[in-house]
Amino acid sequence: MKIIYFDICAVPIFLIILIATFIRKTIKGHANQLFILLVLISLFAAVSDVIMECSIAAPPLEEKQVIIGYIFGYLYFLTRNATILIYQFFLFAVTRTGMRVQEGWKKFLMSVPYIVVALIILLNPFTRNVFTITTENGYERGPWILLLYIISMSYAVVGTVYICACKRFLETNKWIALISMYVLAYISVIFQFFYPRYLVEMFATAIAFLLVVLIVLRPEELTDPDSGLPSYKAYKLEIEKVIKMKQHVQIVVTRFTNANEVRTYLGEEVYNNYIFKTSEEVRAMLKKHRISYELYYERPGTTYVVIDDPTFDVIGTFMDTDNRIRETNREIEASGVKLNPKICIIQFPGDCRTLEEIIHVGHEFYGLMSRDQLVTQASSIVGLRDYQIESNIVGILNKAIVERKFEMYYQPIYDLKTGKFHSAEALIRLNDKKYGFISPGVFIPAAEGRGLIVPIGDFVLDDVYRFISENNLEELGLSYIEINLSVAQLLQKDLPQKIRNLEKKYGVNSSKVNLEITETMYDTIGDVMDQNLAELYDRGYTFSLDDYGTGYSNIQRVAKLPLSIVKIDKSLVDNMGTLHGLSIMRNTVRMMKDIKLNIVVEGVEREEQLNFLRAMGVDYIQGFYFSKPLPEAEFLQFIREHNNDEKVTF
Ligand code: C2E
Ligand code: MG
Ligand code: MG
Repeated sequence: MKIIYFDICAVPIFLIILIATFIRKTIKGHANQLFILLVLISLFAAVSDVIMECSIAAPPLEEKQVIIGYIFGYLYFLTRNATILIYQFFLFAVTRTGMRVQEGWKKFLMSVPYIVVALIILLNPFTRNVFTITTENGYERGPWILLLYIISMSYAVVGTVYICACKRFLETNKWIALISMYVLAYISVIFQFFYPRYLVEMFATAIAFLLVVLIVLRPEELTDPDSGLPSYKAYKLEIEKVIKMKQHVQIVVTRFTNANEVRTYLGEEVYNNYIFKTSEEVRAMLKKHRISYELYYERPGTTYVVIDDPTFDVIGTFMDTDNRIRETNREIEASGVKLNPKICIIQFPGDCRTLEEIIHVGHEFYGLMSRDQLVTQASSIVGLRDYQIESNIVGILNKAIVERKFEMYYQPIYDLKTGKFHSAEALIRLNDKKYGFISPGVFIPAAEGRGLIVPIGDFVLDDVYRFISENNLEELGLSYIEINLSVAQLLQKDLPQKIRNLEKKYGVNSSKVNLEITETMYDTIGDVMDQNLAELYDRGYTFSLDDYGTGYSNIQRVAKLPLSIVKIDKSLVDNMGTLHGLSIMRNTVRMMKDIKLNIVVEGVEREEQLNFLRAMGVDYIQGFYFSKPLPEAEFLQFIREHNNDEKVTF
């Protein structure tokens, strides 16, 4: 009598694996689906084995037992041998080496040994070469059973060699889990050879599958929990593999530019469903074209489709699905809500070479497309100057910091009461050797986002203090110079100390400097920022609130800060052409005057704007109407000319 407990144990393990794959939603994608098939077939094999062994356990057998033994014996041999072939295809899919056997004939060739096995088994009723079951003797092995073993072991050997060859682009733990299938197969076959009573093969397979489920198909990490689609992290891992294997692929990045708004409007659940259905249509379309692909999703609204065929006409085919997508989401579309896609097609390795480049293009392309442009090629994005600056900004800024490539310009600020220039704003400039002049509107936010603003801010402070010390502001008729401060600078504990050091180094008094802060800063106001503002205020510094009117202006918060000046943003000036805009400006000015703040209006370019603002009682004007920001020497010359007592120039 055989020991079948191991086989019986394998059954619940397979069942648990199946349930787990569904609960963990690892059901999408080629590799996952092959794995499910693999587990299903193994489950079938284990159950067949158990039934067969039970029916033939105690000869002499009844006729009925012989028939059951035969039926489940055949099923067992057919399914058991199929698993080892499917496992090979699973390996192709999971290591992304599948394209090498994409053609039908190659798949067929790989399946030939199995087909031979199947034929041998199917012919067994006539040849009785594999096994026989008789009422008297029960189950007996035939001479060809060894052949079956040899063939399936040859699959295992090929598979082992293959997976060893794939080692360099697999993480070690995954590699171990994948190869365990073969290692356990060898061990169990040898074990069973010496102890034929113990049926351990299916149990060994079940253990190997457990390892695969736990280690290889890591769904929590690689599946987006909301939509159930493969995640952005899975995408990055996939691209790493593509790069290591020097594979040629097309990546279609679709960014829904209004994803956040649509999600807020529809609610999380409906939105996720919408995304899911939309991507299902894309999947169906690619499947119809027999294209090997994988689709990934990054919240809140970017999908990546990696297509193994570099020549596939993506655009033509994607456009075709548009109607189907509408049809599937009819209810949502009928309500007038629609995701706005922007699509970028990346050819690898043609357009981008590294993971960083691919990721970067995928994140930046839509900002560089024109409004009504739907599709772009990565090659045309990568060539843009703005894109190159954006992607090389860290290098550019680091170089500029080390080589002191920054320069301070000064934009005069006009006093409407005295008709003289009363102060100036210090504005940083960067002239890169390769890219030329780069706007602070571009590099300041980039530096802030990458933790590089503090050294830049240090340069600004040092250079402006030097400028003040070298020139007599009073003599020039200037009260102070305004310096822009970033949040990160205000969050530094040692900011007051730094400023104190500069005062000493250059002999500059705090009254000569006005510090500009922006409204967005209050959200992050913390103890350090509060303390810094308070300490600097106590030491005699004044503060301006920059860019008023661009953020979520909150007058209560404004009133709480130690401000002396508010700078009204250019956007409010630009809108003064309409009655509405004029009224907003008038009321803003009135409100600021009520809370006793001095007002600078920025971005004044035309005389009529100036006249309106003068009539409203604005104190100071900064804008191209008077002067653009100027380099130090030109600025000094400009001020000397215009603040000259004899001459009234404006
Ligand atoms: P901001 O502080 O609001 O500076 C005013 C911006 O408006 C300057 O742009 C100035 O050139 C521009 N401007 C002034 N009048 C006019 C006008 O009449 N027409 C037009 N079209 N523009 C006008 P800029 O120099 O390009 O600086 C952009 C932003 O970069 C600044 O906005 C500020 O947020 C930041 N920034 C500049 N220098 C520094 C700095 O040294 N440190 C920090 N942290 N940020 C800086
Ligand atoms: Mg400013
Ligand atoms: Mg401003």
